[in-house]
Amino acid sequence: MDTLTIHLIDGQEMELPLVVAFTADGEPADLVGDVAPEHCDHKGATWSDCFDLRCPRCGSRLFLPASKLAHRPEAEIEKMHVLWVGAGWPSWSSGGWRVPDGWTLHSHPFFVTVGGLPVRNDRYEVFANEERRIAFEIKTD
Ligand SMILES: [Zn+2]
Repeated sequence: MDTLTIHLIDGQEMELPLVVAFTADGEPADLVGDVAPEHCDHKGATWSDCFDLRCPRCGSRLFLPASKLAHRPEAEIEKMHVLWVGAGWPSWSSGGWRVPDGWTLHSHPFFVTVGGLPVRNDRYEVFANEERRIAFEIKTD
């Protein structure tokens, strides 16, 4: 596991682990990378919509429950992540999106299995720009 060395004011050094992946038990996990995201169910990995966590086996971002991102190619997960950030980091809890006042649920082909993607109303232009950019990338791939 990579570490970050902190030089303390008294001359001592402290090694902090750089953790990007956790097991389902919340234990830090090394990235193994023994499987491609499209073949991975991300089982046993912790996800977070607050921290940039990765699946220890395939390295995919896990910004939604692992099962919702299972067996998707890396490029698709990355595009979903861009849209999710553009939308304003909507939260997933208790098996569904939280759609508070000031947010609108939009349908999107990448988010069909989770019932769409909530977009913060004041970020709609940012989201729409990312959506257009990704649609253009897909067309030119
Ligand atoms: Zn995985």
